[in-house]
Amino acid sequence: MKVTMAGVAVTGAGALGSCMTGQPVARGAGTTPKSMARYQNSPNKGRRCGGCTHFLEPNACEIVAGEISPNGWCRFHEPRPA
Ligand code: SF4
Repeated sequence: MKVTMAGVAVTGAGALGSCMTGQPVARGAGTTPKSMARYQNSPNKGRRCGGCTHFLEPNACEIVAGEISPNGWCRFHEPRPA
């Protein structure tokens, strides 16, 4: 149930982003290059994509473009609320 609700919220955010920019947003995924986000394929001090509010199951991000790992990390990490 929790995953379903997150999916609905992300879809809404993606639609809003598309409307605001005029650019198509693929399933809520981001467009920021990994290099700009300083993305890495491993956690940083215990912080990881799987625990980030921007993470999209199973391997995408609302901010960073392309495929990411649940065990990755970037400078936009925001801990998911408990
Ligand atoms: S840590 Fe960065 S790449 Fe990973 S889900 Fe969060 S914002 Fe996206």
